Amino acid sequence: MTALFDYVPRVAADFEFSAPPQIQSTQLALLREHIAYLRAHSPHYAARFAEIGLVPEAVRDVVELAQVPVLTSKRDLEVAGERFRCVAEEAIADVCLTSGTTGKPVALLQTAHDVGRFAYNEEISFRAVGVTAQERVTVAAALDRCFMAGFAYALGLSRIGATVIRAGSSSVAMLAGVIQEYRPTTVVGVPTFLLALAERLRETGVAADGCGVRRLVCIGEPVRRRDLCLSALGERLQQAWQADVYGTYATTELATALADCAHGCGGHLHPDLMVLEILDDAGRPVPAGSPGEVVATPLQVTGMPLFRFRTGDVAQLHAERCACGRYSPRLGPILGRKNEMLKFRGTTVFPPAIFSAIQALPYVQDYYIEVRAGFDLSDQIRVVVGLPDGCDVKAERIADEIRAQVRVKPEVVCQSLAEVRARTLQPDKRKAVRFFDLRQRTGEVPG
Ligand SMILES: [Zn+2]
Repeated sequence: MTALFDYVPRVAADFEFSAPPQIQSTQLALLREHIAYLRAHSPHYAARFAEIGLVPEAVRDVVELAQVPVLTSKRDLEVAGERFRCVAEEAIADVCLTSGTTGKPVALLQTAHDVGRFAYNEEISFRAVGVTAQERVTVAAALDRCFMAGFAYALGLSRIGATVIRAGSSSVAMLAGVIQEYRPTTVVGVPTFLLALAERLRETGVAADGCGVRRLVCIGEPVRRRDLCLSALGERLQQAWQADVYGTYATTELATALADCAHGCGGHLHPDLMVLEILDDAGRPVPAGSPGEVVATPLQVTGMPLFRFRTGDVAQLHAERCACGRYSPRLGPILGRKNEMLKFRGTTVFPPAIFSAIQALPYVQDYYIEVRAGFDLSDQIRVVVGLPDGCDVKAERIADEIRAQVRVKPEVVCQSLAEVRARTLQPDKRKAVRFFDLRQRTGEVPG
């Protein structure tokens, strides 16, 4: 295991506070190294780069990456996984699997260097949010099932010297006990799960806001709105725990996380670890402040490095200097999946924006959205909400509440909680399914 902690950063600890030209020149040097490595070791990219004659020196500025006609999709990884491997099998230290939320799970093979690298990524992310060696941190995320995230958090916290409490996410009851017994100062977990945990504590007569947790680091779901203020979900968490709420963004393929700093205004990109592009439908870069697809090139990866990976997630970059003093750009919350964008009478909306509007309604206990193809390129959006027995809130009022938030008034249907749960909770799915896209022949897209 010692090798896992041997990763030595290529940049100084205050790198992200450097002037933008210095950040850009360091990032360009690392990007060129990355291209040279792929040409030398990756069967997939060596062939693609040879076709177009790409050499590292040809990229004179990181923004020129947008002109390189090579992109990588999840489908490419599914079809040609082995051809992305750059090292001998015995050099693989860890096998990470994607969650398979949008397709079949893909293996991302990590060398010891790569594991050290993502541990370092988590170290600097947790440091930026204020975690120190004196803190106790509960990791309420899966450390098993070949997931990268929980493993990376635990290693990153170990690099800081914090006390790691690897409670995982399989048992709310066990976690509730751990919170009371070991009194962590920070908890890392999925926001809806952390809300359920607060509820569990309340049921046992314990107030979550009296447990000494000062900070919640949220993973897997956004906790901010597009304007970077907390979403309804983020606010409910803050209220329940009386703790500061921070967001993160990561996917296994990126092997890199972007996390809020202590100022909580979007996930800081670590430019020594990744190049991030935001592209429009035609593959052109959009200006900072405009949403587009997140396309990432993780740097310094050796086992299965990727080039211009299309995440399918839509978000926007914030390029101005952060209040914390860092010049590293920040990624706003994920607005939705590119292929889930809904068109409604000339406007567009992503399902998470509707989810967020519904989550602000305290009487709605569960919900899902169904979309069908309508006329005139407009989608028919139907929101089904589960209300408690005896609740007489009318569908029309809920539709108006949603319209006030997202400027789209969907059809709303009220059902019993049991009826809604029969649809959202599916035994073979890790997360509740709340988006049913009936516009596509494939039917359901898990949300
Ligand atoms: Zn900051």
